[in-house]
Amino acid sequence: MPAAQNPPEKMMFQLSLRRRGISDLAVLRAMEEVPRDLFVAAADRADAYRDSALGIACGQTISQPFVVAYMTEQLQLQKQHRVLEIGTGSGYQAAILSRLCRHVLTIERYRTLADSARSRLEELRYDNIEVLLGDGFDVPPGAGQFDRIIVTAAMEQIPQSLTARLEPGGILIAPVGPHRGIQTLVRVTRTDTGLERKELVDVRFVPALPGVAREL
Ligand code: SAH
Repeated sequence: MPAAQNPPEKMMFQLSLRRRGISDLAVLRAMEEVPRDLFVAAADRADAYRDSALGIACGQTISQPFVVAYMTEQLQLQKQHRVLEIGTGSGYQAAILSRLCRHVLTIERYRTLADSARSRLEELRYDNIEVLLGDGFDVPPGAGQFDRIIVTAAMEQIPQSLTARLEPGGILIAPVGPHRGIQTLVRVTRTDTGLERKELVDVRFVPALPGVAREL
């Protein structure tokens, strides 16, 4: 009885993702399962299932649901994958990823955001996610290699330090472009012969900044 369980706005949410071209059923199911209303500010709960980005603490944003679904679909996740996310923010994208792979390491440069995402994800029992306070431009060497890497903050270029972390056959997706303005979502695949780059769609993300934030 999905109609009785799902409030109308959640049904519209699924419909609008499908209408905009998201067709991977596992991705749609993850988008249905993860309660976005628990990742937004309390004052924004009523707007949680609208297709828009919303403000969170530290002047950052939780991405627009369509962009979350699109990036997730483009990653072509498999159950055994180990995934790295740069830019934890609310933890919402990490929660979606965690439904579709084995493990997610997500890195955030603001302590306030890392701490609140960690406790939110623990409360919701997403137990295959590790939240790390750190700098995505400087991932600790001990973190190892990843099957998939997703960057959810705008980078002027994709650093070699990140593509170097891709397993053979691995895929990285990142918004690339100027910090103020429009960026392009870029997908990089590590093939036998090197790195293959494809530009996907235009997007707008908050900037990726170097270093752990000095303010909380
Ligand atoms: N994926 C998030 C939204 C990301 S907003 C979600 O689902 O809610 C982008 C986030 O990237 C911000 O929280 C910002 O602080 C963080 N960020 C920016 N530069 C970073 C860096 N160098 N390392 C880690 N996180 C970074």
